[in-house]
Amino acid sequence: MPTSADANTLLAEIATIGADPERGGYSRPVFSPAELELRAWFARNAAARGLRVETDGNGILWAWWDVATDDSAPRHDAIVTGSHLDSVPGGGNFDGPLGVASALVAVDLLRDRGIAPIRPLAVAVFPEEEGSRFGIACLGSRLLTGAVEPDRVRALRDDAGRSFAEASADAGFDPSTLGADPERLAGIAAFVELHVEQGRGLIDLDRPVALAGAIIAHGRWHVRIEGRGDHAGATRMADRQDPVVVAAETIRSLRVHTLVVDDARGTVGRVKVTPGGTNVIASAVDLWMDVRHRSEEAVRRIVSEVTAGTERAAAAEGCVVTVTEQSFSPTVAFDPGLRAVMQAVLPDAPVLDTGAGHDAGVLAGAVPTGMLFVRNPSGASHTPAESAEPEDVAAGVEALADVLEHLLTR
Ligand SMILES: [Zn+2]
Repeated sequence: MPTSADANTLLAEIATIGADPERGGYSRPVFSPAELELRAWFARNAAARGLRVETDGNGILWAWWDVATDDSAPRHDAIVTGSHLDSVPGGGNFDGPLGVASALVAVDLLRDRGIAPIRPLAVAVFPEEEGSRFGIACLGSRLLTGAVEPDRVRALRDDAGRSFAEASADAGFDPSTLGADPERLAGIAAFVELHVEQGRGLIDLDRPVALAGAIIAHGRWHVRIEGRGDHAGATRMADRQDPVVVAAETIRSLRVHTLVVDDARGTVGRVKVTPGGTNVIASAVDLWMDVRHRSEEAVRRIVSEVTAGTERAAAAEGCVVTVTEQSFSPTVAFDPGLRAVMQAVLPDAPVLDTGAGHDAGVLAGAVPTGMLFVRNPSGASHTPAESAEPEDVAAGVEALADVLEHLLTR
C-alpha cells in the first residue's frame, strides 16, 4: 500500500492524459477516452489504498474507507471529500484533479497519523462538473440531488449530436439508472471539497489555503439567433437578415449591462456561426452567456436586459431569437456549522467567496458542505496557465487531513 505519496506525484501520473496539443493544457470531457482513463487511474489508486470503489447510478465514483460495525443498519454519518476529473477545453491540470489527488493523499496522511475513524470516509469523483460536453455544469451532483430531471439529461446532446444516453452507454454506463438518490445523500454527514483557487484572493492575502464563504449566483443561457443565409457578394446590405450582426449586439450589450453592476461578471466564451464561411452570410448563430453576481436578482436583471436588447436588434435585422436557460445556481452560503468547525481546525485560513461553481455548491442544498481553496499563483483558471506550487499543494493536503481527522474522530 502506498503511503505518504504526495499529491504532486499523483498529479504527475496523469500529466499526459487528455493533453490537448491544439489548445494547450487538457481537454478531458466526460465519457471521452481521457476521462475514462482518469477514472481508471482513480479506481486503481483508491484500490491500492484498500478503499472499496463503487460507481453509482449517476456515474459518480465513491471510494470508501469503511469502519467495522456490529450491525448492518444504514449509517447516516459518512464524511465525503473529493472533486472532479473532467476539464473545460484546454483547461489546467489542477481544476478538479487537485481535489481528488489531495483526498487520496489525505487518506495516507490520516493512516500515517494512526487515526482510527469512528465513521466512514468516502472519496468521491463527480462526472461532467464543467458541463463542457453537455452544457449543464455539475451534472453528476445535480442528478444525485434531483436538481435536474434524468429524462432531460439523457436527451442532452454534445456538439457532435451524440446524446448523453448514447455517449454514456458507449462508455459502459447504464443511462437508465440516472436520478436522485436520497438514500445515499441521507448517509452523508458532511462533504468537504478541496479546489485550486480560481482567482487572486490568496495571492493578495499571501496565504496558501482558504476556506470558502459563499459561491456567488451563476447561470448559463443559450442564445440562438436565426436569420437567412445568403451570398456575401450578391446580397445587398439592405436585403440581409444577418444573425452575426445581432450576435455582436448581444455580446456588446452583455458587456455594457455587466459593467454597470458592481462586481458582476458576464461572458460570451463560445459562439457557433452556421454554416461558418468567410464569403457566406450566416443562417444562424448560437452563443452562450455566462452571468454571475452575488445577488441572484442582479443576474436575472442583466440577462433580461440583454435579452430585450437582443430581441430589439433581431427585430431590426429580421432575425428570430430564442434564449434558453441551461442552468441557474443561486448564491450558496456554505454550512455555517461546518465552517465553524473548519475555522477552529484551521484558525489561520482566511474565508473567501468564489465566482466559480462547484459540486460542493450543488450538494450544499442537501448536506452540510464546505470547501478549501489552494493558492494559484497565476490567479487564472480554465486555462493552461492555472498552477499551484508544490508547498501550497502540500499545505492543502495537510489542511484537508486536519479537517477530515476532526470530522472522522469526534
Ligand atoms: Zn473545478
